[in-house]
Amino acid sequence: MAEKDYYDILGVSKDASEADIKHAYRRLAAKYHPDVNHAPGAEEKFKQINEAYDVLSDQQKRAQYDQYGSAGPQAGAGGFGGFGGFGGGQGGFNQGFGGGGFDDIFSQFFGGGQRRQDPTAPRPGRDLQYAMTLKFMDAVFGKTTTIKYDRDEECKTCHGTGAKPGKSATTCQRCGGQGFIVTMQRTPLGNMRSQTTCPECHGTGKVIKPEDRCTTCHGTGHVQEKHELEVKVPAGVDDGQQMRLQGQGDAGANGGPAGDLYIVFRVTPSRDFRRDGSTIYVDRDISFAQAALGDEVKVKTVHGDVDLKIPAGTQSETNFRLRGKGVPHLNGNGNGDEHVTVHVRTPKSLNKRQREAMMAFAAASGEDVKGVQKSVLDKLKDAFEDR
Ligand SMILES: [Zn+2]
Ligand SMILES: [Zn+2]
Repeated sequence: MAEKDYYDILGVSKDASEADIKHAYRRLAAKYHPDVNHAPGAEEKFKQINEAYDVLSDQQKRAQYDQYGSAGPQAGAGGFGGFGGFGGGQGGFNQGFGGGGFDDIFSQFFGGGQRRQDPTAPRPGRDLQYAMTLKFMDAVFGKTTTIKYDRDEECKTCHGTGAKPGKSATTCQRCGGQGFIVTMQRTPLGNMRSQTTCPECHGTGKVIKPEDRCTTCHGTGHVQEKHELEVKVPAGVDDGQQMRLQGQGDAGANGGPAGDLYIVFRVTPSRDFRRDGSTIYVDRDISFAQAALGDEVKVKTVHGDVDLKIPAGTQSETNFRLRGKGVPHLNGNGNGDEHVTVHVRTPKSLNKRQREAMMAFAAASGEDVKGVQKSVLDKLKDAFEDR
């Protein structure tokens, strides 16, 4: 996905205020609107402007964009493709113009042309994002946890109508319930008929009298509430991946579906293991004697210690693969592998017996090894390094 600079598209600076962004958007949208600008490329430009505005006008999306760019936070390959309940694809934004920002401004600015959506039509709620930090092992094996987050919910007092119990919206007096107002203007070209959205009811054709408004939600029909949700983190999630929980975002309007909640995982690194997808990498030191004679050594895996056979004559940096000892695959289909790299460590100092044995070993190999006494400085260095 190409990286888009939304600030550049709107011609504003990175620290532009909401008002600056709105202003820039209106100016550009008017200039490139396909109804007025028939130049080639204008429509594409118009789309980009809307996309940029959709992101930058929304605090949450803007913060996400500032952090991750337009490609969203998902880590390159795959996501959760094909896994039940997960949507790999689109990330938390650019999912149309849910939540109204675009249409609201659009209809205000253009006086509601044929492109204006019916304000009483069901509108989906906004998608939300939740960042979850996981310990390394919790990401490997999954866990069930409860999260708390703010989301818009339908007002329980008025059930989303915005009116006090027993009261309801009445037909808008100003537009007679039409939702728009038609005016005739005399121009040199003749009478022009223009149609604008009713400023009283904002196109709904209905109004709730101030004294009839629900006091819980002040007539909006929804309230922001802390929501608790039990989340099952599947085994095998990785840093930067995200999980979509359908319908757990903001409530929709006019009976529209709720948005989705995207949980973005941050996984803390491990001291013992390096992880790449479902593969685990570890290092294991062995002695010269173990490498030469062969041995069985304990090796750490995420599933606990296992015995690894070191064949006689093993060279340093040899890799061994422990099948199925890696991270569970997200699709629940078995585990990845663990790769163990052995490092043959040369003893840093030898006691008298070891030294004699080494000399004897060299002689038995037909080698004439002179040996060098360690200097005081070398010994001092060793002492520091071993700490
Ligand atoms: Zn209410
Ligand atoms: Zn009206």
